[in-house]
Amino acid sequence: MNFSKSAALLERARQIIPGGVNSPVRAFRSVGGTPPFITKGQGSRIYDVDGNSYIDYVCSWGPLILGHRHPAIIRALDNVLEIGTSFGAPTEREIDLAEKIRAAMPSMQMIRLVNSGTEATMSALRVARGFTGRDLSIKFEGCYHGHVDSLLVKAGSGVATLGIPDTAGIPAAFADTTIALPFNSIDALETTFARHGDKIASLIVEPVAGNMGCVPPAPGFLEAARELCTKHGTVLIFDEVMTGFRVAHGGAQQRYNIVPDMTTIGKVIGGGLPIAAYGGRAEIMSKVAPAGPIYQAGTLSGNPLAVSAGIAVLDYLAAHPEIYTELEQRTKQLCAEPPAGVTVNQVGAMFTFFFTDQPVTDYESAKKSDTARFGKFFHHMLESGVYLAPSQFEAGFVSAAHTEADIAATVEAANAFRD
Ligand SMILES: *Cc1c(COP(=O)(O)O)cnc(C)c1O
Repeated sequence: MNFSKSAALLERARQIIPGGVNSPVRAFRSVGGTPPFITKGQGSRIYDVDGNSYIDYVCSWGPLILGHRHPAIIRALDNVLEIGTSFGAPTEREIDLAEKIRAAMPSMQMIRLVNSGTEATMSALRVARGFTGRDLSIKFEGCYHGHVDSLLVKAGSGVATLGIPDTAGIPAAFADTTIALPFNSIDALETTFARHGDKIASLIVEPVAGNMGCVPPAPGFLEAARELCTKHGTVLIFDEVMTGFRVAHGGAQQRYNIVPDMTTIGKVIGGGLPIAAYGGRAEIMSKVAPAGPIYQAGTLSGNPLAVSAGIAVLDYLAAHPEIYTELEQRTKQLCAEPPAGVTVNQVGAMFTFFFTDQPVTDYESAKKSDTARFGKFFHHMLESGVYLAPSQFEAGFVSAAHTEADIAATVEAANAFRD
């Protein structure tokens, strides 16, 4: 494959945008080579400036559960352009979207719309502090909750990919409010709550981790988190920015049947436009301004463009519940024949090929992966017309636009991989 036009654009981008990209992992630093500059997406495919095309398993890092340019979303966007793009004043469709979210995730009794997953988790943490009058938060190593200062401690995603220290640009006083524990360790949770339980405002967790690669919760782990939070008056926050409307219609909380106090969602709920939300028990959410004293605001929050795309995707998913079964089947097919020495984790339409023959259950075991071998596999797949996330520590996503033929072509390409 030829990437010469992409290479020229990267060079130009580097002169004006740090690293040439607007989000770090896009730069291909850990796998090397040139990131293709994309010109168009359609269905399961993306196309680049050099005329290459790929079956896309990044799907904009999760949002595009219906694939690129799904007609339902394009239609909704066309229609909303007739009325305007943003008013900064309330509109009826914001209520519609909030009600549709609550119908799928009843634990979100009240909901506030924001513009990104980062804003959602940042706000949820603040609300938990305001509600409890406490300062500390528990998070898990290798989980990523956006680039919130206090949550970049031992973070996954690009922080893990690039091996960036926890503290650059982050005041120690912020990092000190965070207790980072190993994912899936009930022991660590019990010890921490026994010692600091009355000071912990919130426990935030990706109920299926996706940002150290896909790592499912061990049996009993989410249950233990629920129980300990209830016992100690700590707000349990499920960060379902990735898993919401992805691992089941009602997210991981439906799949594992656990009711969190607060939830953050994003990605899928915007259909590819920037939107996210946080919400939870009415008792907690009624403390948010102007109903209560905890301040949080946004100029473009709830804008009709993003809200309409959100409504379109949620309506489509509600009308086609069979999508989740199909997504799961396709993803299982994709994961059925991994290369030798590879461990596959898969939950719903999320998957990761870890280049280790040991089980991956937390950040320590994820880091045992042979990232150099992953890099070779990544480039082999790219050259074969398959676009995977350019990092070992990311999940892949199958969309409803991926056909049987796409999956078969991907499996064939993976089988042809030689070290
Ligand atoms: C992507 C992600 C975020 C951050 O969302 P942005 O929209 O990128 O700010 C937060 N939490 C989880 C679990 C995510 O996967």
